[in-house]
Amino acid sequence: MSTLIRGGTIVTGSGNTVIEAGAVVIRDGRIADVLDHWGAGREFSGEVIDASGSVVMPGLINSHTHGVTPGALFPSAATALSAERWMGNLDRHLLAGTTTVLSLCGFASMDDVREADRRHAVHVRGATTHLPHCLHAAEMADGHGLTAEARDLTVERMLDDGAVAIGELGGGQTLGGGGQDLVYIPAAIHKASGIPITIDQARRIKEAVVGRFLDVGALNVGALAEAAKAAGLAEAFTATQLVTLVTDSVMPSFLPAIEGIREGVRAAARFGVPAIVHSASATAGVMRELMMEPDGSGATVIAAHVNHPSHTPDEARELAILGRKMGWPAEASVFDLLHRKHTVTTREHWDLLLREPALISVIGTDYGHDGDHDELISAVQDIVAHGHRSLAGAVSMASSAVADLIPGIAPGSGRLEAGRVADVVVARMEDFRDVQTVLVDGICVVRDGQLTLEAHR
Ligand SMILES: [Zn+2]
Repeated sequence: MSTLIRGGTIVTGSGNTVIEAGAVVIRDGRIADVLDHWGAGREFSGEVIDASGSVVMPGLINSHTHGVTPGALFPSAATALSAERWMGNLDRHLLAGTTTVLSLCGFASMDDVREADRRHAVHVRGATTHLPHCLHAAEMADGHGLTAEARDLTVERMLDDGAVAIGELGGGQTLGGGGQDLVYIPAAIHKASGIPITIDQARRIKEAVVGRFLDVGALNVGALAEAAKAAGLAEAFTATQLVTLVTDSVMPSFLPAIEGIREGVRAAARFGVPAIVHSASATAGVMRELMMEPDGSGATVIAAHVNHPSHTPDEARELAILGRKMGWPAEASVFDLLHRKHTVTTREHWDLLLREPALISVIGTDYGHDGDHDELISAVQDIVAHGHRSLAGAVSMASSAVADLIPGIAPGSGRLEAGRVADVVVARMEDFRDVQTVLVDGICVVRDGQLTLEAHR
């Protein structure tokens, strides 16, 4: 089967090449040729896609996703999503031009990952956190998605079975972060009083009790009284009850999760695979400690979402700069900070870090509210529109740079270049979110912005 995509602005993904009105020739699932033009009268036997007014790029590679496989969800090993939900999440990635995802729900098994990979056109890769402290942290925070099989698995067996990284080490749920604010603290308060509270109210109460760095000595009685009053809880709870409720929800998983980061980085060094660490105010201390280790660990350690809003913008910048100096590549997550703004309402960290030359290596999405993150391809366009990178540079942050950083994630993809796997995206130049065509392994899985029958198997 052959396809010709012609007339578009071709961004090869290598980081520096853009070809105006070029052509990509695809044969038998591979890129056969990338040409600087296709002659007007020249014949082609196969499907011809007119890409004028569009940008043509490699299928994007997203190294930070959750909820894309069966099996335990998030580093807290929460109850698995239904097939409808995880397939739906993969649909959203694919419709936005992402053709490879790395699931950072580290307690899924490789059978779970393979099931998603087989049933959906998106290439689904797996990571592992099957380590004692990580497991303990998950059980303390949630753990409802853990199966007997997942409890028995080890990092070593997962890597033998095809996992490509260790991660996500730490998460908002186990480290008293956004997952606690969104789910666990409101649930505990609701259970005790029947009163619903919002994510912002939960965060304010939590920070009054343990501060931003998860320190039980940080209790601020005045701030707690005000936060309780603002959330309508002043009648229902005494200050002591709220302190107990928050610390019981947040602290049991915190120390195991921090220890889990240390053991995950050590395992990455031992097995020679990248580790991916959740960057947030709660992990800034342990990240600094690991970055400053005298001889380093020898591992590739990727700092995930270095733009996490629990850092102040300056803290985020300082930590990422230290990481750059100590050889830790940084990933920035778009969350939903561009359009939807449910979970992250500021773009200050995003712009500050991306503006800094060579500070951010790759971009991902993370999960957003209920999986409703902004599109990775929109993040690519935003980075260009704000002058942080050239078009070629921005595309490479979600393609070749990811493939190079995590060797197992997308061998053979990430670049439009003869011989590579034909994962290709065509999107309208004015708004990249308007993805018209997506090919995976040379097969058309999105046509005119709609999934084709080949998207699901
Ligand atoms: Zn995270």
